[in-house]
Amino acid sequence: MTGKIWFVGAGPGDPDLMTVKARKLLEQSGAVLFAGSLVDQAATLYAPDGCEIRDSKDMTLDEMTDWLIAQARQHQTVVRLQTGDPGLYGALIEMTQPLTAAGIEWAVVPGVSSAMASMAAAGETLTLPEVTQTVILTRVAGRTPMPPGEDLESLAAHKTTLCIYLSITLLHKVQAALLAAGWSEDSPILVVQKASWPGEEKIIRGTIRDIKQKCQAEKVGSQAMIVASPTLGAADWPDLIRSKLYDPAFTHRFRKASALTEPDSAEKNAEHNAAHPLENPIA
Ligand code: SAH
Repeated sequence: MTGKIWFVGAGPGDPDLMTVKARKLLEQSGAVLFAGSLVDQAATLYAPDGCEIRDSKDMTLDEMTDWLIAQARQHQTVVRLQTGDPGLYGALIEMTQPLTAAGIEWAVVPGVSSAMASMAAAGETLTLPEVTQTVILTRVAGRTPMPPGEDLESLAAHKTTLCIYLSITLLHKVQAALLAAGWSEDSPILVVQKASWPGEEKIIRGTIRDIKQKCQAEKVGSQAMIVASPTLGAADWPDLIRSKLYDPAFTHRFRKASALTEPDSAEKNAEHNAAHPLENPIA
């Protein structure tokens, strides 16, 4: 018998943010290899008695794949538990290739990524009608270089929501790239450390100018998400452009527009933009 290896997203930290599928797999697992302290709790909470549980932090990639293969030869269900979603900065394919080569079946279970958890923690939205409809998930170059055309300055030029992983120790590079891309020093920045961790989450709000000092003052130097977005702070905007989907004047598959239609949305939005030229500080 050879079992199957599941690459499971554990979510951002709060065990309640794990998917039902992830939890079911843990409950039936014979062995769990977990990545780092973030998902330690989830593994120990749900894995059955007698399950082989191993932290991968001191292992090389070869050691991890050897361990997974050895476990799959003994157990039907083997879980590789990773933070957030396994497909984001998770060395996923490096691990699956040797498994395929060894003839071992594997599959991926997605997880709630820390970008989504960070925005949720702060009561913020990733997209807003006519402000930005695009989210870029990225990082700045550390020891891993960025491929050509993906430097933060180029990406920031789109003025979309930027969720910046793995970069809290390189906040100065983030500041410099945003400014070089034309964002104003007053543009809001959000940093969330340990998003969704019960009792440990920290939410820091600042601007490009002061975010670094604020993070230093709060001792936020690891396990943090940086978000730069023209949507930040929208909860306090007095006159928001609403989604067309819920507009009374908008007909769609499940609802007919009401007879008393609102002014044309384009007209309304043009009026809104004229009335609030500064609401989006980077516009
Ligand atoms: N696969 C993970 C990302 C792994 S890379 C995911 O989808 O979230 C590790 C980086 O993710 C960290 O440097 C940090 O930027 C971010 N991160 C992971 N968990 C986090 C959390 N709970 N709160 C804030 N950032 C987190």
